Amino acid sequence: MPMNYELRGLPPDDFIPLSVPVLCGNEWNYIRECLDTGWVSSAGPFVQRFEDELASVLGARYAVATTTGTAALHVALRAIGVGPDDEVLVSALTFIAPANAVRYVGAWPVFMDADPYTWQMDPAKVVEFVERACVWANGQLHNRESHRRVRAILPVHILGHPVDLDPILEVAQKYDLFVVEDATESLGSRYKDRSVGLLGHIACFSFNGNKLITSGGGGMVVTQSEEMARKVRYLSTQAKDDPVEYIHREIGYNYRLTNLQASLGLAQLERLQQFVSAKRRIARLYQESLSGVVEVTPMNEASWARSTYWLYTVLVDPDRCVINSRSLIRKLAESRIQSRPLWQPLHRSPAHCEAQAYHVEVADQLYRDAVSLPSSVNLQEKDLCRVVSSVLNAVQGLRG
Ligand SMILES: *Cc1c(COP(=O)(O)O)cnc(C)c1O
Repeated sequence: MPMNYELRGLPPDDFIPLSVPVLCGNEWNYIRECLDTGWVSSAGPFVQRFEDELASVLGARYAVATTTGTAALHVALRAIGVGPDDEVLVSALTFIAPANAVRYVGAWPVFMDADPYTWQMDPAKVVEFVERACVWANGQLHNRESHRRVRAILPVHILGHPVDLDPILEVAQKYDLFVVEDATESLGSRYKDRSVGLLGHIACFSFNGNKLITSGGGGMVVTQSEEMARKVRYLSTQAKDDPVEYIHREIGYNYRLTNLQASLGLAQLERLQQFVSAKRRIARLYQESLSGVVEVTPMNEASWARSTYWLYTVLVDPDRCVINSRSLIRKLAESRIQSRPLWQPLHRSPAHCEAQAYHVEVADQLYRDAVSLPSSVNLQEKDLCRVVSSVLNAVQGLRG
C-alpha cells in the first residue's frame, strides 16, 4: 500500500505530493470581500462573476455554476432530457462520476474503449457501435442487444487531453444524439484550436481541490444553447416557478454554488493561463528526461490537440521492465513521492456491473500499466528531477 500521510499527520518535509492547489493570487482578497460584505451563501456577486469569466475564457455563451462537477453532469443530462431506460455511451477509462450521473437519471451507460495513442474514448469504436450494434428506426436509435434507446454520447477528456471529437460529433448528428462533454479534467485544453467544452451540445467542468483550478468544491455547466442554460439554472435552483409563492412544476435540486466558493474559483480562474503553462512545462521536462527510457512510455499529445497535462502519466511496460506499475507506485512512496494508478475501468466496476461494455480492451491494459506522477503547478525542478531519478532507479532495478 502507498503510504498515506493524510492518516498519519503531516507529511515529511521532502514529501512530493501528486497535485496540490496553489492559492497565491486574489483568493484572500475575494474571500475577505465575501466576509466583509456578509455575502457568503448562494446569493452574492461572485457567482455571476465566476460564471461570466468562465464563459468569456472559453468563448461560451452560457455558464451556470453548480456545487460539484458531478452535479453539473447530473443536471446537464436532465437538461437534454435523458431519462429512465435511455442509454448513454460513456468512456470506460475515467473517474466514475459521469457513469454515476447517467444512473442518477435512470439511464444506462454503455462503456466505450480507449484509444491506444490518446487514451481517450476511441471514436472508431463509438462509430462502429452506433453503425453495427444499433438500429435506426422511426427517427430513433436503439441498441440491438438491450433494445434500449441510445440518446447521447458522453466523452470524457481525461488527464488534460481532448477526445478526438469530430468523428463522434458527426455520428451524433447523423443519428440525432446529444453530445455531453465531461471536461472536468481538461479546462483550458484545445481540440483543433477549439476550446474543450464548446464542441458538443453541453459540457461540464469541476473545481474540486484536485483539478487544475479549484473553488474548494464546485462545478459549471457550459452551453451555447439559451434553452439548455435556462433549464440547467432552473433545475439546479429547485425548479422554482414562483419565487414568492414557492410553486414548483418539477423536481429540482439545490446545486447552487456559494458566493464564498465562487470567489475562490474566480481568483483561481484569473491564473488559468499561468497554470496551463506550468503544467505544460512540467510535461516537457518529464518528456525530455524520460525519452529514450525503454521501460516507460510517456503520455502523448496528438497533433490536433493542445493538452493541459492535468496529471502527467506514464505507462510501465511489464514485458520490458523489472517491476510493474503497482510496484513502481510502492517504490516511489518509499522515496516519499506520491503517485497513483488510473481508475479501474468502469466495465470492471462492481457499481456498474449491470451495464454493457462494447469491446473494451485497451482500457484494461492502460489501467494495468499507468502511473500518474507528481504534477502540481508549483512543482520545483529539483523535485521533478528527484521523481525522475526515483522512477529510473525503480524501473531499471537499481537501488535508489
Ligand atoms: C473530478 C471529476 C468529476 C467530478 O467532479 P466533482 O467536482 O468532484 O464532482 C467528473 N468527471 C471526471 C472525469 C472527473 O475527473
